[in-house]
Amino acid sequence: MNRENVKTHCPYCAFQCGMTVTPRAARQPGQAAFEVRADDTFPVNRGQMCIKGFTSAELLDHPARVTTPRLRGRTGHLVEASWDAALDFVAEGLLAIRARHGAAALAAFGSGALTNEKAYLLGKFARLALGTPNIDYNGRYCMSSGAAGQNKAFGLDRGLPFPVEDIARTEVLVLWGANPADTMPPMMQWVNAQRARGGTLIVVDPRRTETAQVADLHLQPTPGTDLALANGLLALAISEGRVDDGYVRARTQGFEALRRHLLGTNPAHVERQTGVSLDQQLQVMRRLADAGSAMILSGRGPEQQSKGSDTVLALINLALALGKVGKPASGYGCITGQGNGQGGREHGQKADQLPGYRLIEDADDRAHVARAWGVEPATLPGKGKSAYELLDALGPEGGVRALLVFGSNVAVASPHALNVARKLAALDLLVVSDAFENETSAHAHAFLPIAQWGEETGTMTNLEGRVILRERVREALPGTRTDLEILCALATRLGVGALFPSSAPEDVFAELGAITAGARADYSGITYDRIRREQGVFWPCPASDDPARPHPGTPRLFAERFFHADGKARFHVVRDRPSAETPDGDYPLYFTTGRTREHYNSGAQTRRVPALVDAQPEARVQIHPRLAATLGAQDGAKLVVESRRGSVAFTVALSPDIRADTLFAPFHWGGKQAANILTVPALDPTSRMPEFKVCAVRARALPAEAAS
Ligand code: SF4
Repeated sequence: MNRENVKTHCPYCAFQCGMTVTPRAARQPGQAAFEVRADDTFPVNRGQMCIKGFTSAELLDHPARVTTPRLRGRTGHLVEASWDAALDFVAEGLLAIRARHGAAALAAFGSGALTNEKAYLLGKFARLALGTPNIDYNGRYCMSSGAAGQNKAFGLDRGLPFPVEDIARTEVLVLWGANPADTMPPMMQWVNAQRARGGTLIVVDPRRTETAQVADLHLQPTPGTDLALANGLLALAISEGRVDDGYVRARTQGFEALRRHLLGTNPAHVERQTGVSLDQQLQVMRRLADAGSAMILSGRGPEQQSKGSDTVLALINLALALGKVGKPASGYGCITGQGNGQGGREHGQKADQLPGYRLIEDADDRAHVARAWGVEPATLPGKGKSAYELLDALGPEGGVRALLVFGSNVAVASPHALNVARKLAALDLLVVSDAFENETSAHAHAFLPIAQWGEETGTMTNLEGRVILRERVREALPGTRTDLEILCALATRLGVGALFPSSAPEDVFAELGAITAGARADYSGITYDRIRREQGVFWPCPASDDPARPHPGTPRLFAERFFHADGKARFHVVRDRPSAETPDGDYPLYFTTGRTREHYNSGAQTRRVPALVDAQPEARVQIHPRLAATLGAQDGAKLVVESRRGSVAFTVALSPDIRADTLFAPFHWGGKQAANILTVPALDPTSRMPEFKVCAVRARALPAEAAS
């Protein structure tokens, strides 16, 4: 049954735009059954959305939706099966593999698209029903360096430690490797408001993106040199006496070691290394230091590197030394990418975490969670492999024989995609739970069709740390089930059904909330009713002893203290080093990846929406006309780009907005257009984030006749 005028949220990015969804009374051919309007009362997007959100209802009744489970038959094709047959097949396969190879041979892979309830239950399922340490999720590819840096420096990771409305009030805004004009267009209203109030916008990006085009200052560094640039800015601040000594003394620890480390920095060397002139460096540093309020917000640019967490720490060092963090409309923030990238990493689907940001290797945290789950702490597995390492361990060689995938298209989204495809094909059992078949399910032994975003209610935590409620707009399509129902049904077949008493989202949220009481990400004071009444609640929000005086939630962090035991933030000495691959004689160009406005992540959903495909039908490589001329590449023709891992023939898009030593391509396409065929699986040693933003390639233009 359809519901009228439902206030809910977009299924895609972490801005989680509020929207109103209404069934259409009269439907034109090709129109979705629901009309989507931006909610002008929701305080984050305030009546704006992007084309992805406006077209999202087209997925609900899409003809390619799968509504019957599928099992791989004798012919090698997926064929329809009943739910009982499919769930029995999966459970029997898991039990047989566990009996033969041990629990660590089983694995689960989750997603930053899953609701908090699903992320929580998937983590519990992996630890209690599968008994495996091996669970991780695609948020590892998105948020892990930002999270690692913030945890080290502040003792807590929440993407933005303030609401987005604060952006409009900061005097100097630095967007470092972030392009919200394309990736999160409604966020630009806050950036535009900041500029309209006389604020300064500085963008750091190897490309002159749409965001960079409206900036007062655009720094266009060589890919992979963000850490050197951030360290260089702080070294300049120190040498010019711009450090806020009183703040550093009162609110931080560890500055002296960092100061000594940076004393030897040579600004001319930083200029040569980064390609950013000393004059520009000085302008940025002085504007930040002089401003009464300033923010540095990072995106995936500096984070998706093999030194990503150190780069985040260098940005935080700069913000702390200039005395900006914890002051009004000031500080460092990491712009979360995926819809529930924030909540997804708080509640236990990450290899090293338990719900509430508790740590799986901390004895007290293990005991607390085990007690709540009704099991012995010793029965909880330890820390598992990170996302890429887990995928690389699939098959007999690596020892992981069975993989359950929920809401992630790993075959497209992972680095070194050809290797991941080979590993998926080597599994004894691959189970994919999704609404549509995709490049990952092409290797599946079982496909379980799920209800979509508009067909089930659940909470998401947006980029500000605001927990919101994504309300369903109709019943699930007949034949589909929710991920929560699937997990509970499998748990029963694996003999632990009593530990999974309910698949109702509100029940699961109540369980999640209770278990996070006292944890860093404390949700225990949040209820569905409160979220509905208050347009979201910011964590931490502990339960109150007095029902008449509930905790208000925490929109702004760090005003009084940081989350280390002494309340102080930590500086870290972070040393620059080369990216895993830099151009050489054989592969003389940089290659970097990112998003387009029209598509989202692996494109598993957006590549099915006609308006989005019409606007952006294929992967195109952005190349500077000067470089194109040396290669003989023409706009609209094909350019073969090769790395040490494979090659892709992209369509050429000439653009003066990219450095002449760098190629850029979006990663939303699979198969032969997959940009991740080229990327390098070098991992950050702390966050285990792959280096999506830098690898070395060579390129050759195809003759026009070959391209046609
Ligand atoms: S994709 Fe992001 S910015 Fe676009 S409508 Fe959805 S939530 Fe808003």
